[in-house]
Amino acid sequence: MANPFANTGVEGTMKSTFLVWLSHGPLAIVLPVLWLASSPALHYAFKHLRHIQTVGSSLVRILLALAELVLTVFTILSCSHAGCAREVRLKTRCTQNLREIAIAFSAYTQDWDERFPPAGKWMDAAKKYLPPEKANQVFTCPSALSPFGYAFNSALSSLPLTQVTFPAETVMVFECDAKKPNASGGLKDLPQTPRHLSEGDNYAFVDCHTQWRRRIFATSLRWNP
Ligand SMILES: [Zn+2]
Repeated sequence: MANPFANTGVEGTMKSTFLVWLSHGPLAIVLPVLWLASSPALHYAFKHLRHIQTVGSSLVRILLALAELVLTVFTILSCSHAGCAREVRLKTRCTQNLREIAIAFSAYTQDWDERFPPAGKWMDAAKKYLPPEKANQVFTCPSALSPFGYAFNSALSSLPLTQVTFPAETVMVFECDAKKPNASGGLKDLPQTPRHLSEGDNYAFVDCHTQWRRRIFATSLRWNP
């Protein structure tokens, strides 16, 4: 008995023609338009929802966070050419640096009564908890033009860990065009242009996880504990 699900020659050709038309026609136009329109729209929504604390706005914030996640995946998946593959490699190396720094901070706070180091000595403090071969490497972002690629969130200087209400959302170390070691600061000290994948930067958060975030969402991160 003939398989009822098997494509006939004509039907199969029609299907593949339709898929080619879909991917080269409407999708090729609609996706970039959605992509371009989403950035300012999401930025506006995040900016104005930051100050509203209602159940409805929380739901919208979750939906916006999901939208950002989808856009992030889209950005990374759309990197298929050689130059972009190199960008992804540099971003990954930077993420590994921040991960090493975050782990060093975790060890430091355990030794020092669950308290962050002073902002003016954060690199010196972290170095003592890094393997010697990595102690000088991890503080340089491979995409940075400056000799030191990162800065510590000065709002956490000497702060007890228990005073950070949302560790998974609070920035600990961020990308910065630092010209000297032990640089610290906040949102205004991000590099002039996004450093990775053209649109964003890497961050290490207080709970030690690291993440790439689009620059337009930098204001929605927690910079004060
Ligand atoms: Zn970097």
